[in-house]
Amino acid sequence: MIWLRVDGRRLRPAKILCVARNYSEHAKESGGDVPEVPVFFLKPLTALLASGGTILLPPESHRVELECELAVVLGKGGRDVTKTRAMGLVMGYAVIFDITARDLQREAKEKGLPWTTAKGFDTFAPISAITPAKRVRDPHDLAIRAEINGEVAQDSNTHEMVHRIPDLIASASRIMTLERGDILATGTPAGVREIRAGDVLRGTIERVGRLDARVARKV
Ligand code: MG
Repeated sequence: MIWLRVDGRRLRPAKILCVARNYSEHAKESGGDVPEVPVFFLKPLTALLASGGTILLPPESHRVELECELAVVLGKGGRDVTKTRAMGLVMGYAVIFDITARDLQREAKEKGLPWTTAKGFDTFAPISAITPAKRVRDPHDLAIRAEINGEVAQDSNTHEMVHRIPDLIASASRIMTLERGDILATGTPAGVREIRAGDVLRGTIERVGRLDARVARKV
C-alpha cells in the first residue's frame, strides 16, 4: 500500500480516477477528438508507485507508453458537487504517469472491452509527492513536460486541457461519490511515446513537482 505524502504528512489514497483524451493534440494522435462529456476510467490503487520506483513491463504487452499528467488530489469528498464548489475539495496537486499497455488498449477498443487490463497493471501509476493547493495559483497554467532518458517527449501546458478541473470534479461526482484521498488524473498532452526496459523517466510540472521512475521488464 502506497501512501500519498503531503507536507510531511501521509494521506491514504482512495481511488484513482482518470480522464481519457482531454488534450486535443493527444486526442488527434490517438485517432479521435476530445469527447464532449469527459470519459472516465479507474486504475486500481495497487498500480500506485512512489517516485524513484520501477515500472514493470508485463510480458502480456509488447508496447507500453508513457502519459505524463497533472493529478488533482482531493482533501474532501462530495456527491453532485457543483462547478463553483468543486475547487474547494482540492487539497493539492501531483505529477502522475498514466502508464498504458497501448497494444492491449487498442485490442480492447476494437473488441469493445474495458481498459482495465491495459491501464491496471501494478506500477502503472507512479505519483510524486503532493504540493498543497495553496502553492499552485492557477492549475490551468502550468508547464508540463515528460522526458525519457533526458530527451523531451511531452512538452505542453495545462492550459491546453479541454475539460477543466471544476468540470471534471462536477462530472465525476454525478457518477460516483468522491472521497478524501481521491486522485484525479486530468489527461495527457501530445507526445506520448513508448517506454522500454532500462529507460529513465522524468515528469515535471511547474510549481507542482517532479516524478522520477525507471523501467524494467517484469520477470
Ligand atoms: Mg491518460
